[in-house]
Amino acid sequence: MADYVIDDAGQDEKFPIREDGLSAAQLLSGGDGLTYNDFIILPGYIDFTADEVDLSSPLTRKITLKAPLVSSPMDTVTESDMAIAMALSGGIGIIHHNCTPEYQANEVHKVKKYKHGFIRDPVVLSPNHTVGDVLKVKSKHGFCGVPITENGRLGGKLVGIVTSRDIDFLEDIPSQQNQKLENVMTKLNNLITGTSGVTLQEANSILEKSKKGKLPIINENGELVALMARTDLKKNRSYPNASKDENKQLLVGAAIGTREGDKQRLQLLAASKVDVVVLDSSQGNSKYQIDMIRYIKSKYPELQVIAGNVVTSMQARNLIRAGADGLRVGMGSGSICITQEVTAVGRAQATAVYHVSEYARKFGVPVIADGGIQSIGHIIKGLSLGASTVMMGSLLAGTSEAPGEYFFSDGVRLKKYRGMGSLDAMNREDARGSAMDRYFHNEMDKLKVAQGVSGSIVDKGTVLKFLPYLQCGIKHGCQDIGAKSITALRSMMYSGELKFERRSQSAQLEGNVHGLFSYEKRLY
Ligand code: GDP
Ligand code: 5GP
Repeated sequence: MADYVIDDAGQDEKFPIREDGLSAAQLLSGGDGLTYNDFIILPGYIDFTADEVDLSSPLTRKITLKAPLVSSPMDTVTESDMAIAMALSGGIGIIHHNCTPEYQANEVHKVKKYKHGFIRDPVVLSPNHTVGDVLKVKSKHGFCGVPITENGRLGGKLVGIVTSRDIDFLEDIPSQQNQKLENVMTKLNNLITGTSGVTLQEANSILEKSKKGKLPIINENGELVALMARTDLKKNRSYPNASKDENKQLLVGAAIGTREGDKQRLQLLAASKVDVVVLDSSQGNSKYQIDMIRYIKSKYPELQVIAGNVVTSMQARNLIRAGADGLRVGMGSGSICITQEVTAVGRAQATAVYHVSEYARKFGVPVIADGGIQSIGHIIKGLSLGASTVMMGSLLAGTSEAPGEYFFSDGVRLKKYRGMGSLDAMNREDARGSAMDRYFHNEMDKLKVAQGVSGSIVDKGTVLKFLPYLQCGIKHGCQDIGAKSITALRSMMYSGELKFERRSQSAQLEGNVHGLFSYEKRLY
């Protein structure tokens, strides 16, 4: 019994508390598969504030995150923008591999090279471009501060800058559209610049003193390497929980397949200093994956490897034996997924997470609960069943950091979200067969059978606001449970102190909004 129970002169002995609720082992030993919605967690005792809850949790044997949040390697979820935002917020992003190896390695590179406040890939034009070109940049990207280099590219010699002040008064005069930028730009001799290697603080102070809107950063040869915007200074926030390596660079992961060609992909990713690779198979218990884990462990011993996906202890055993540093759990639970329908194989996610985690912890291998996360409650449930982190697709899709352009349908602003096993994703032009590896195991599979669908998701704004909301919600859940950290949550579960209860259909209805004619659900 926990020490918070007041011993009231033997009252407990006279009136003992009847065992209430089920342990995780009892809940999940019934033989039928449970989803996150099928159960609820019973509350515990609170003697700390939600703020005090420690969300740090291991991703792999060697990498621990400050927040247990991972973005899925899907081409509508994670490229460098998402991975940067995930890492800044204490989680990590896994760059998808439905693209050429060079493209993927470059996305990893962008994350590793990211410096908060610096725009590393600014839009650049040449003196021969026209005012019309700047206006096009403005309508496409929303800004018009454009550095001008000799060759019109990043890395070229800086010769000037065009800002809104240079073009605002020209905008309305159609004849000025063809005006060359060399005639309207602010030339180099009137420009304030920073030199590469300048710290964020120094650059900030230069911008403040000079009262300029943009600070081009150049190297010793006068070539443009980055740009800073004053607007970013104003909204500059610090990210004390950012996930970083020992060189203070952001952590990033990348997904690969298990074919021979993936070894070359891996080489490029390793050269870009990727921190962790995820072997991306829907059924990970295969000879191909075991061989790949062994190959990576012998060739890149420092690289952390997450294997999967698995849903049973038996599958997990083979991958752990081969040397996996983490496991990804889930088969058929994703929102865009039709695997269970098409192949009749998979497992309900809560059951899968519990059984694999319970086995893997004996070897010190952390588990990622992958797929089917629709709310903060689902995240807490995944963690309470033994997962160390959760991987999300749909929850993060539709944000401004997710790849792809917004579009409107019936007046609603949307972004595309699709399964990596959807025909849409598999037919992507630059896919080069990569993502198909996840759903096809050999070259003989000529006919593509979809295991996912393609759809759209409503605009959710920036993940830099959404992730703090998720973290705050997880802390409140842990507080209600009486767990001061995710580690404590796991120990409470394994000791049997954490109690669960199955939910009937009507209990599930009762647990959601009901009985209202209409309502608005604003989350944060
Ligand atoms: P501008 O004065 O019209 O260039 O726009 P602001 O400086 O007010 O806003 C530009 C915003 O877009 C800042 O938050 C930048 O970090 C962001 N941004 C992203 N990429 C670029 C880029 O290539 N060039 C510029 N100028 N801004 C960028
Ligand atoms: P979500 O968070 O949207 O519920 O699920 C995302 C997860 O679904 C991914 O991390 C991945 O494991 C899985 N997934 C992604 N694409 C597909 C697909 O086309 N088919 C299946 N079966 N699973 C997918």
